[in-house]
Amino acid sequence: MHKKLFIPGPVEVRQEILDQMAKPLIGHRTKEISELQRNISNNLKKLFYTENQVMLSTSSGSGFMEGAIRSCTAKKAAVFSVGAFGKRWYKMAVSNGVPADLFEVEMGQATSPQMVEEALSTGEYDLITITHNETSTGVMNPIKEIADVVKKYPEVVFCVDTVSSAAGSKIEVDQLGIDICITSTQKALGLPPGLAICTMSNKAYERAKTVKNRGLYFDMVEIYDTINKKDHQYPSTPNVSLMYALEYQLDQIMEEGLENRFARHIEMAQYVRGWAKKHFEIFADEKYLSNTLTTVKNTRGISVKDLNGELAKRGFMISNGYGDLKEKTFRIAHMADITLDEVKELIGHINEILNLEE
Ligand SMILES: *Cc1c(COP(=O)(O)O)cnc(C)c1O
Repeated sequence: MHKKLFIPGPVEVRQEILDQMAKPLIGHRTKEISELQRNISNNLKKLFYTENQVMLSTSSGSGFMEGAIRSCTAKKAAVFSVGAFGKRWYKMAVSNGVPADLFEVEMGQATSPQMVEEALSTGEYDLITITHNETSTGVMNPIKEIADVVKKYPEVVFCVDTVSSAAGSKIEVDQLGIDICITSTQKALGLPPGLAICTMSNKAYERAKTVKNRGLYFDMVEIYDTINKKDHQYPSTPNVSLMYALEYQLDQIMEEGLENRFARHIEMAQYVRGWAKKHFEIFADEKYLSNTLTTVKNTRGISVKDLNGELAKRGFMISNGYGDLKEKTFRIAHMADITLDEVKELIGHINEILNLEE
């Protein structure tokens, strides 16, 4: 039996989107593919509220995270982490020989604008990475306040991981001054995994051109240049099938309306938070809660594994806690094309299984 996915990626994908991927292929050096990519870019620019270049990579989101920190750090990167995915960015820097410092907070807390100010004011850094929405803890960082600090340091390239929030939460790239904004297809965009997406500013591009040893596959300069020189094509063969699905889904998202989509995510988040507070506790600092997933503190000491086993029999799946938070927390994703009614149905089943009152 298929289990409807309430996990923070891959998410539940509607059949009509999956069907797009069964279409016959086209060459990756044709007018048709250029048009496909142009349509995708135009809609992604709307989604990210940006005029910056939009780039795709046939990898998961991590590909562009690694590409960004490696290609765009000339001096040293300041990596701000509020959980597993922030730390991953630091590991990428270290393993590529990119100088970097890691700034962490206690799990469940957010990165504060003060921390960012303190680090950048040293003048040591020329690139900063922020996780917008931390998928392990369910924290959504105060990106506007952080952006206001970063704006005071024009030499700093501002990179943001919006993998689990883009298309579920409003991210105004140009207003925030984000130089590289990264996401993946398999989260709030509601598509299968297999493409990374990013926006890249001219400033980030100019910086990258001064950096040696950018690698090849994730060389952000090479990708940026090829899109311009070859009318929206890529250095190597992209995942054309998933691009069909992405083009289709972006049209659907525009039809739903961006504001409506973001509002739907907030509605679902509020419902799950209300339930979590009634029967458990919320793990993250309540001032910085994610709109796309909720990490619930397992205050009742239930077996999350057993709960998921029972949910599976009913055709649903949620996520256990991430890493060390396994069994201590569990995560309910409320993102992509899932509706409030579907979330209510899931919660109804959890209530029944755990004998909780409505
Ligand atoms: C899922 C996730 C990633 C990793 O993305 P992949 O597409 O799996 O490479 C990075 N950051 C955050 C916040 C995520 O949720």
